[in-house]
Formats: sequence, structure tokens, C-alpha cells
Amino acid sequence: MGRVFLVDLEGKTYNCKFCKTQLARADQLISKAFHCSSGRAYLFNKVVNIYFGQTEERTLLSETHTVTDIFCRRCGQILGWKYEKSHEESQKYKEGKFVLERVRFIDGEFDSEFYIDTRSSSSDDEDTM
Ligand SMILES: [Zn+2]
Repeated sequence: MGRVFLVDLEGKTYNCKFCKTQLARADQLISKAFHCSSGRAYLFNKVVNIYFGQTEERTLLSETHTVTDIFCRRCGQILGWKYEKSHEESQKYKEGKFVLERVRFIDGEFDSEFYIDTRSSSSDDEDTM
């Protein structure tokens, strides 16, 4: 189904656990001290190579936010969510920021090797779709 346009990031990155697509630069990381239903999560200023799901009100750890689910642009796995709006004054700093669940991505320090892997396996994926 055509080519997926993916952004290339430079420097240290965090990558999709399944397809190794680059998701965020390490210097966009705001906090590692987040939690979600699957465990730990990281807060980022900016992530790339994603697409957005539905926006909805969700109560996370007893705080209600308007959030949008985010998914990997290449493999489609859910990655986390974007904070659209917070109802608590103390949580306003999260608005417009992205949360990636820690179990959904990997540290991309060896991203050049991962990239070779990704390209060769992605053609197999397309045949089965
Ligand atoms: Zn992926």
C-alpha cells in the first residue's frame, strides 16, 4: 500500500520496539517518571513517525485529561498518547506533550544496525498485508 513516509532523526533516539522506527530524540525527553497501565512511561516534547487515533476524555491516575492515542506509523502498534488538555491547573504543563509507554519502545543507541534490519524485513511484511 505505497510507501510510508518516515522522518529520520539524528543523534540518540528511542525507537519502536517492533519495527525499530525512530520515534523521538533523546533530547526531547522531559520525564521518565510517568506511569501507565503497562508500567513505566516517558514524557516527550515531540515524537515523530506516528499517527493519531481517537481523542477522548480519560482518567489516568485519578486525573482527567483529554488525550489522543498515538500509534507507530510503520507497524501500527499503540505507543501511548498525547495530552490534548488537562483539567487540573497543576497538570497544564502536559498539554501538547506525548507519553510513550516504556514497554513499547527501545533505546535506539544502535539505530544504524536496526535500520538495516528494518528495511530488509519490511518487504516481507508488505506481502502478507
Ligand atoms: Zn513500529
